[in-house]
Amino acid sequence: MAIAPKAASSAVVAGGGIGGLACAVALRRAGLDVTVLEQAPAFEEVGAGLQLTPNATRILREFGLLPALEAVAVAPEALEVRDGQSGRLIASAPYAPATERYDAPFLVAHRADLLRVLADGATALGTRFELDAAVEGVEVSEDMAVALATRDGEPLLVKGDILVGADGVRSVVRAQLGGSATPVFAGRLAYRAICPSKPTPHPVVRLYLGADAHLVTYPVRGGVTTNIVAVVKMDSPVARWSEPGEASTVHAAFAGWCREVRDLLAAAEAYRCWGLYDLDPLPRWGMGRATLLGDAAHAMLPFLAQGAAQAIEDAAILARTLAGADAAEPALRAYETARRPRTARIQKEARTSGGIYHLAGPARLARDAVISLTGSHLLDRYSWLYEG
Ligand SMILES: Cc1cc2nc3c(=O)[nH]c(=O)nc-3n(C[C@H](O)[C@H](O)[C@H](O)COP(=O)(O)OP(=O)(O)OC[C@H]3O[C@@H](n4cnc5c(N)ncnc54)[C@H](O)[C@@H]3O)c2cc1C
Repeated sequence: MAIAPKAASSAVVAGGGIGGLACAVALRRAGLDVTVLEQAPAFEEVGAGLQLTPNATRILREFGLLPALEAVAVAPEALEVRDGQSGRLIASAPYAPATERYDAPFLVAHRADLLRVLADGATALGTRFELDAAVEGVEVSEDMAVALATRDGEPLLVKGDILVGADGVRSVVRAQLGGSATPVFAGRLAYRAICPSKPTPHPVVRLYLGADAHLVTYPVRGGVTTNIVAVVKMDSPVARWSEPGEASTVHAAFAGWCREVRDLLAAAEAYRCWGLYDLDPLPRWGMGRATLLGDAAHAMLPFLAQGAAQAIEDAAILARTLAGADAAEPALRAYETARRPRTARIQKEARTSGGIYHLAGPARLARDAVISLTGSHLLDRYSWLYEG
């Protein structure tokens, strides 16, 4: 374990999602004492999958966690883009050249598996966890940061040299630090489900495109499960962030789609439905000895599959910046300055991608023609993302 940097020797992390746990791993490796406060009684993730691009898997390798993840993830061979109605292949891009170019794999995993790998990593490094502890307030002074939480109605105070708000898109920490950002509803719902499948020797990520809807499928858990994300248009925001989804609504939305899609949707186990929200890029993330990380800082639409990847990048850069700094506050501002342009660009490009996926009429034909011509080079336009 590294010796604690001069800038800070302890950190409080609010939120034990992918971002908070990646942060715990990174800061422990940099030598800080770390306490994670998580409102849930256990580290749990609902049944859904996650694509992990080389900019994230490279960092997980640096953390020493890639072998554990690879043991439960799937390395797909290609990204296939298909027409949703006919099932026709528009383009196929192999991942192997990109994996070599970016020196790290593309993986698809169950979220619960990634969370478990990060939680085990953080535990092995000596992270302290306060579960069932909902952060309600933050106090930041010149020489300390304090998270004010409650557990079973009882107050719980945790102090550190710095505080990191990794408490998601509806961050309490962000609000406490004066960031009055309101999540922006994208006019879309994502229905997510998993269904049993047989492992195939040639796993692929499939993106089916249609007017006002798209569908992404890929195998997780060694291929014995297929993950489905079905995104549809919805004008009015949903009341809750995530709730049980009606299978009949999903079946109706994709009724005119190809057989393969309909069969997959019919085989799905219970759906959950997410209203898709992002944030406009924030002019400021932190204040004093507190900062933000992950969705709390830069929630983005999932259309570039980057939300978790960016939270993992945040964690690595935060730890690196603290390790090379003499004082906490300038280090936190330097971390934010380093991260804001990249995450803002991804937030913006993810919005654009969402629009492109759902084109209709002649614009849709033009889009498909461009994708078809780009063919196996589809991933090249994201080298700025995957290089990290
Ligand atoms: C449909 C969909 C598909 C996606 N696909 C991908 C993908 O393929 N690849 C990818 O990289 N990303 C993807 N994402 C994005 C990714 O899921 C998120 O960006 C990522 O989970 C953010 O992690 P986080 O830790 O910042 O926030 P969260 O996952 O929201 O975690 C926040 C944690 O903080 C806890 N918490 C909240 N408030 C408090 C409080 N007051 N006190 C204590 N604890 C608190 C919560 O319980 C939770 O555990 C997708 C998202 C969606 C909706």
